[in-house]
Amino acid sequence: MHSETNRVVVVGAGQSGAECVAALRMSGHQGPITLIGEEPSYPYARPPLSKAYLSGKAGVEDLHIRPPATYEQQGIDVRVGTRVVAIDRAGRSVAFDDGTSLSYERLVLATGGRARRLPVPGLDTAPNVHYLRTLADVAAMRHRFVPGARLVVVGGGYVGLEVAAVARGLGLAVTVLEALPRVLARVTAPQVSAFYQRIHAEEGVEVRVDTAVTGFAFAPDGSVTSVELKSGETIDTDVVLVGIGLVPNVELAEESGLLVDNGIVVDEYCRTADPAILSVGDCTNHPCGENGGRRRLESVPNASEQARVAAATITGNPRPYTAVPWFWSDQYDVKLQTVGLSTGYDDVVIRGTADTGRSFAAFYLKDGAVRAADVISSPRDFTAAKKLVAQRAEISPASLQDLSVPLKQML
Ligand SMILES: Cc1cc2nc3c(=O)[nH]c(=O)nc-3n(C[C@H](O)[C@H](O)[C@H](O)COP(=O)(O)OP(=O)(O)OC[C@H]3O[C@@H](n4cnc5c(N)ncnc54)[C@H](O)[C@@H]3O)c2cc1C
Repeated sequence: MHSETNRVVVVGAGQSGAECVAALRMSGHQGPITLIGEEPSYPYARPPLSKAYLSGKAGVEDLHIRPPATYEQQGIDVRVGTRVVAIDRAGRSVAFDDGTSLSYERLVLATGGRARRLPVPGLDTAPNVHYLRTLADVAAMRHRFVPGARLVVVGGGYVGLEVAAVARGLGLAVTVLEALPRVLARVTAPQVSAFYQRIHAEEGVEVRVDTAVTGFAFAPDGSVTSVELKSGETIDTDVVLVGIGLVPNVELAEESGLLVDNGIVVDEYCRTADPAILSVGDCTNHPCGENGGRRRLESVPNASEQARVAAATITGNPRPYTAVPWFWSDQYDVKLQTVGLSTGYDDVVIRGTADTGRSFAAFYLKDGAVRAADVISSPRDFTAAKKLVAQRAEISPASLQDLSVPLKQML
């Protein structure tokens, strides 16, 4: 029998919320657990939304993070289609959009984020302009992904490039518009950006960098018919996908007086300044051992690890978040796996060739130590790269470049 006094309420039924409730039971939490999500679905993985699910190769049942039945089996009360609208910190309860409320002993905010919108009048109501964060977003756009349709992707980040790849596979004519001088500029080295620009060009995507969008032309029904560029050019289109980043969902925390600074501020145990409230996933700003500072990360591995750390904190076996960040992206037949944080590097070493072919690695060095790596289509090298980054291995650029010596021998 669960005691009602030690209820954990998790707000946000996405990757981190779903993993947190599972980790709580795994860690021995016996009290009631309630998982609340405003989306109508049971927790699902978002990565396939811009990959196998958008292309039609995966169905919705393949997306579930855990089979829905397991929540009930583990005594986890899941309330989907339910939005938390306020936190009463003094009274330790959350209020729902239907006017009811629920008390908690511990509260976990796992509210994720939402797609950043382009602030252009008319765009939010244009039926052929799409953002990609949820299953509902895919449902709204998928019927437009038909052979011969013209797609303009605004933003050369991971989501935009993955959608471009899927769209090519489905036979669309695709143009990617990136305002900065290269795609993936904030997250990778110029050589990796150049690689992706080449791959997309080889696949028939027109990638235009240094290309700022200045406006849109609309049809009488409100649809966008063309995209206007700073150069004065216009690009006719049937569908627009805007992929310009994420805005963390921090309003609940902020309105309840918790500290927010590009994310809900937590320590390495996922605790906010309120001992009863923790936070996990894309919505958190947390200490990051990798660069000694604080970061807000948007990745499944981060969401999963923070979920486990929060569960450990709640169940009285605290351990700090020390995992080295990693991430992946699939475009065409190319799998990128990246580990560590490349910000602040002073040297990039390319192992293999980035200018031809579809497999190589980029190592980011700082003060002679390997701090991060982007490994393209080589899982074996990625396994070794993870260890090199974790060890902050000091390896000369010449050794890293020497293809005759397997990476794992450098450990
Ligand atoms: C298209 C796409 C592709 C991606 N590809 C990759 C990839 O290849 N690799 C990778 O590592 N990561 C990828 N990611 C990122 C990854 O999906 C996220 O990092 C991860 O989902 C974060 O989990 P989260 O639980 O923090 O947030 P989310 O998964 O966003 O979940 C938060 C949930 O909380 C709900 N919520 C918010 N506020 C409330 C409220 N007040 N009341 C109730 N519910 C609320 C939201 O509706 C949402 O369902 C991708 C993301 C997208 C969108």
